[in-house]
Amino acid sequence: MGQDTLVKPGARISLNDYDPGFCSGYHKRDTAVVDRLAADLETMRELQERLYAEGKQALLIVLQGMDASGKDGTVRHVMSGLNPQSCYVVSFKVPTPEELSHDFLWRIHRRTPGKGEIAVFNRSHYEDVVAVRVRGLLSEKECRRRYDQINYFEQHLVANGTRVVKLFLHISADEQKQRLEARLRDPTKQWKFRPGDLDDRARWNDYMRAYEDAIAACSTDLAPWHIIPANRKWYRNLVVAQIVAATLHEMDPQWPKPRADLSSLVIS
Ligand code: AMP
Ligand code: MG
Repeated sequence: MGQDTLVKPGARISLNDYDPGFCSGYHKRDTAVVDRLAADLETMRELQERLYAEGKQALLIVLQGMDASGKDGTVRHVMSGLNPQSCYVVSFKVPTPEELSHDFLWRIHRRTPGKGEIAVFNRSHYEDVVAVRVRGLLSEKECRRRYDQINYFEQHLVANGTRVVKLFLHISADEQKQRLEARLRDPTKQWKFRPGDLDDRARWNDYMRAYEDAIAACSTDLAPWHIIPANRKWYRNLVVAQIVAATLHEMDPQWPKPRADLSSLVIS
């Protein structure tokens, strides 16, 4: 679908090379867009059912992005089509004292999906190499060590049957400004606004550099990063649904064999 979202392992990246307003051949949220999204959501639902029935593999979807980049909206529009029986969302906030008393992957590992499940992480262990670094609480050397630990950790998950897909929702600074302004004006969205969000916005360039570094260091064959053009919400939803549907297709979950020979059974 147009601009390649996949970050090739080992490649250096510049987010400036990725247009956050890109929307392929589409121009607006017309019926072609609506139909395509509906088709991918249907594929996701069908394959989720098979994944659950099979009970051998799991899928972890990591969502990262600046404030107002659309992490919550992606969960609402794309993931809410899934059956809650075997899908859940975890939103990672500033770590609690208990979480901080452990290594940074402790709180992450305990929320990873079990076999047959899909988990969506709204923020993740990448906060520990991006937000923490930008706020000056992590040396460059320690950050590199964490990249290694993240890569080992994710490969450990993959080796144990969990697919890991990481999505960076890429918006422009202008788009964030508009969305934060709308948030300030809208009583139904004001609750999302924290004064600290403006401090993060003031460090926009530092965040972009930190994301570029982390994404480049941790996009691996087994656990790739995708950069999603996210200025247009409908296009973001389309791309995310397409990636999740394609991933489930690749995982190719199979209906399990019946537990017994059912051919002679009669229900009286
Ligand atoms: P929100 O997702 O908008 O509710 O905000 C959650 C806040 O928690 C953001 O400012 C994140 O940067 C912050 N946060 C999440 N995880 C961590 C972490 N491991 N270390 C520091 N801050 C974090
Ligand atoms: Mg926020």
